[in-house]
Parts: sequence; C-alpha cells; structure tokens
Amino acid sequence: MSIKTAGSLMCPICEHAGEMAEMAHVPYPTLRNSKGVSKPEQIYFCSNCEAGTVFPPMTDAFLSQLYDNGVFWQSKQPKTVSPRQFPVLYGFSGVRWQLMKRFFKNQNISILDIGAGHGFFGMQAASDRDIQLDRYVMVESDETLTHLAQSVWQKQFPQVQFEAHQKFESSEGFFDVVALSHVLEHIPQPRPFLGAVIQKLKPGGWLFIDVPNQDYRFKKDVFPHVTFFNPRSLKTLLTSLGLEIETLNGYGNQIGEILMSDEKESHHWLNLIFKLSMKMAQFLPTPVLIHQIRMWFGAGQINDSGMWIRAIAKPMANTP
Ligand SMILES: [Zn+2]
Repeated sequence: MSIKTAGSLMCPICEHAGEMAEMAHVPYPTLRNSKGVSKPEQIYFCSNCEAGTVFPPMTDAFLSQLYDNGVFWQSKQPKTVSPRQFPVLYGFSGVRWQLMKRFFKNQNISILDIGAGHGFFGMQAASDRDIQLDRYVMVESDETLTHLAQSVWQKQFPQVQFEAHQKFESSEGFFDVVALSHVLEHIPQPRPFLGAVIQKLKPGGWLFIDVPNQDYRFKKDVFPHVTFFNPRSLKTLLTSLGLEIETLNGYGNQIGEILMSDEKESHHWLNLIFKLSMKMAQFLPTPVLIHQIRMWFGAGQINDSGMWIRAIAKPMANTP
C-alpha cells in the first residue's frame, strides 16, 4: 500500500484509499533482528478487498538488493538442485503441476516460470509423459540456482529448450503457461507487475498462481513478505486485470501449518516423524512422493482457510 497523504494508505490491489487510524491491522510477525535491516512493523488491511500490506513500506530498492546480492539466501545456498535433495519442494511442485496439467492433452507446451527457485515445476512438467515440454524458461534472480539448474537440464532434459533469466522481461516470445509460485507476496505493487507478466501469455495460454493464504496467521516470521492475500483479494487482483478465473481455492491442512509454523520445539515428535518420512521419500518414485506431500500438508486438499491459495486464469477472449 502506498502512502497517499499523511495518515492514509491506498490499497495496491483495488486502489481503495483508507485512513490508517480506521484500518484493521496486526503486528508484522518476524524473528529478524532489526539491526541493519529495515523491516515492517504492521500489516494493514484494505476494508474493500481485504488485501494486507506492510507499514512502514519496504522500498523496491531495498527489496531488489535483498534478493539480488544473495545475502538473504546465503544460509540456504544449495550445492545441487536435484529433486531428491529437496523432496518437500519437489513434491509441492508436483502438486502444482498436477493442477496445471489438466488443461493440456498430448500437447507441446512452453512454460515461463517466474521466481522458479530450483526449477522443480519445470522438471515435473519435463518428466510428465502426458505432455511434451518444448521450452522451459526459468526466471530467478539467484544466479547460484540458475547455474545449478542449467547443468541439470542439459544432462537430464536435453530435448527441452532451457533458458534462465534474471528478469522475465528479457525472455523472448510467448508461453502456454506463465507460473508465479510464491512471488506476488514479495511484490509491493502486484498490479502493474502482473499486468506486465500476462503480456507473456500466448493466446489461450494460462496463468498459474500460488501464494500464501494470510501466512501471518500461523508463521512467526513472514519477512520479507510485503503483500498478504486471501482468496477474495487474489480474486480482486485477477479480475481487475481482465483475467477470467478458471479455478481459485485455498489448499492445505493444519498439520501442514504446524510443520511450516517455525514452532518446531512445541511439536517435536511430529517434526521428527515428518523428517524421517521425507528421508525415506527420497527413495520413492515421484508419484508416491507427491502422494506423501498431499497427505502431510493437505497440499491437494481444497480448504479456503488453508495455508496456500492457487489460481489458474487466462485473459478474457477479446470479442471484436
Ligand atoms: Zn483493496
């Protein structure tokens, strides 16, 4: 939300202006030490569309520095992007791909994956025999990840045209799928961003979105998220950009929230059993792994108060 005049905020999703004194707000949950890092203090909610936004705002300059210089991710820098090293992330990507693939039948397709991380969404599609993945473009500002992915794709999926970019704008052409998994919550002004992203869709192409569902409710640390969605505000965002929503639902269960909640100590046994089960999952075939992830997190279970929201939408057909 941007500051309009002193004491008032404008919603980045629906542009409704509100007086801060009258707006619902909650403390911004974070475990980050404030030293040297500017961080938000409150999340304010739009009274019109219910989107949440942080105050004081984090500037674009601060955020791009945070993601581009690697400081933020340093502690979790991987040495490989093998699915088996990250069974949970790979399993989540599989659940997402299962949702998306229903819209294709024996087709040759191209995917633009923005904020691709390890590139697992693409690997799931590349390993799927029901479609033919022709081109996979991963957009990821972390160069360590893109370099690791590059070598994996060359070895494992030489038939797929693979590219890695740091910004989606530098990718050429148009795509059958544009995916944004856990991206929009990092963006202070999602509307202009998403408006530019959907220009990359082929006619008839699909936009896939996955965002946390109000994760301040169950996480002790949501840094550096700056925009908070519920199903209603995500719907507002998509329709305001002229998108036709094919599906939009919350997903997840309570056990998944506990596993994601940073409260590991208070659920020691649950976390231990989960870790063991994921260690074993490394040796299981992908469909079994996906099944386990679905069980543990309710990752494929529709629940509008669940921890994720996933949407599939496309630009409305132009009627001349
Ligand atoms: Zn709003």
